[in-house]
Amino acid sequence: MTGSQIYDIIRPGFRDLIHSNIGLTQIASGLVWTEGPVWFPAHDMLLFSDIPRAHIYSWTPHGGVSLYQQNSDYANGNTRDREGRLLTCQHGTRSLVRTEHDGSRTTIAHSHNGKRLNSPNDVVVRSDGSIWFSDPTYGILSNLEGYKADQEQDGRFVYRVEPDTHTITAVSRDFVQPNGLAFSADETRLIVAESGSSHDPSVPSVLRGYDVSPDGRLTNMHDLAEIDQGLPDGLRVDAYDNIWCSAADGVHVFSPTGELLGKILVPATVSNLTFGGPRRNMLFITATSCVYSIFVNVSGAVD
Ligand code: MG
Repeated sequence: MTGSQIYDIIRPGFRDLIHSNIGLTQIASGLVWTEGPVWFPAHDMLLFSDIPRAHIYSWTPHGGVSLYQQNSDYANGNTRDREGRLLTCQHGTRSLVRTEHDGSRTTIAHSHNGKRLNSPNDVVVRSDGSIWFSDPTYGILSNLEGYKADQEQDGRFVYRVEPDTHTITAVSRDFVQPNGLAFSADETRLIVAESGSSHDPSVPSVLRGYDVSPDGRLTNMHDLAEIDQGLPDGLRVDAYDNIWCSAADGVHVFSPTGELLGKILVPATVSNLTFGGPRRNMLFITATSCVYSIFVNVSGAVD
């Protein structure tokens, strides 16, 4: 599709965030359900998960797609910590795992209050080193994206893990199914996606915002935006605090206060996205069996 066909410009300001003559480039195809895109600047490399196949793939501008981790234990969300290490939400082990520089894996979180986690879904790292992740039940509902099992936790929470002690704290209990999450550029706000409408249409498909207190608590919960096509899964924030969120028809872009600015229409349901490339102005979009890239006119904030 050409540029003019893929942009739904709802507010004029959206034109400043895109290159209207630039279209989508399909960089991977033939997969099942792609998720968890993360950019590694030191290697000029994108990693992403294919959850049902239980692989993590890499993509580079010159080398294309390669198998990166053959057994990913049904990896879903990925991110990079401040030391450049890969952090992965694994449905199969129901844990959050760090891949060290030598390739070995360290379990960062697997239980809360003595019970197994549900199935960690998406993860972000704050500049103080704390790790924040969501724990819905998608990885234990069937054998497609993990191993069917009973929920042991009292709910589906968002957790914070301390960097040194790996102490785990439930920081939000406000969701039916918490999913993607992202900090504002200055890290004073956290945005979390509610994807519970996947199994209960009465659950609103909203992004919720919180203030992050200096001691890591979440306060002032408020509904920030509603996704009008499908549900919100993964999301990212750009350098101006605009929110780029996955939806059934593409990527929806909201102002910092939640006003819908426009959409990038994608030919398949979008699960997640991330900013990357040498200048952090490439948007990588995981969309069902494919991954797309597109140059945008803004760079990503922290991820
Ligand atoms: Mg997700």
